[in-house]
Amino acid sequence: MRIILIGPPGVGKGTEAELLKEHYQIPHISTGQIFRSLTQTDKPVGKIIHNFISRGEFVPDDVTNDVVAYRLMEKDCEKGFLFDGYPRTVFQAEALDNMLKEKGQKLDVVVFINGKDDEIVERLSGRRVCPVCGATYHLLNKKPKVEGLCDFDGAKIIQREDDMPETVLKRLTIYRNQTEPVIEYYKEKGLLVEVDGAGTIMGTHQSVLKVIGELSDID
Ligand SMILES: [Zn+2]
Repeated sequence: MRIILIGPPGVGKGTEAELLKEHYQIPHISTGQIFRSLTQTDKPVGKIIHNFISRGEFVPDDVTNDVVAYRLMEKDCEKGFLFDGYPRTVFQAEALDNMLKEKGQKLDVVVFINGKDDEIVERLSGRRVCPVCGATYHLLNKKPKVEGLCDFDGAKIIQREDDMPETVLKRLTIYRNQTEPVIEYYKEKGLLVEVDGAGTIMGTHQSVLKVIGELSDID
């Protein structure tokens, strides 16, 4: 099974990725994770990536595509894969198509987990983090034992700049503008399925499995 998972921040994409990985027994490939581990090596590509990330810029398409091409050569990808965070542009999507074509493979499905902006803002703005140990909390479903204080060290927990409502809305706008063409690209190919990420984790997961099943029936 070859799957791409797309969705804005705050819809539970990471959790869904882990569940799909288990369900289909395929590797979960996150370009963000590969980038972070490459920056910790001496490889020249690690230095290049570090330069972009440290400036708060996206890693360019050609570098990203190369990294993905190498990852796809690994043995565990023979059974399939789940991409998360890639492709982020139409250029990357086309490059992936070509990589797969060379292997005589093709994508099975692109799962778009969507959510309403106000629900996403509500979810993300409830997140809190401990500045001392990095433990994460949520005001709705993962409260600390003592209000406002970290369970592990008693430090005052804080809201990250990234999780403040204005920042979340800004991130969502950037995300939607950037991803729209990629979503259209896969819609035209008949590969896109959309699922509402507003429900529970398992509810979303069941919906995802259902739409994947339906798409396979159409083929
Ligand atoms: Zn702490």
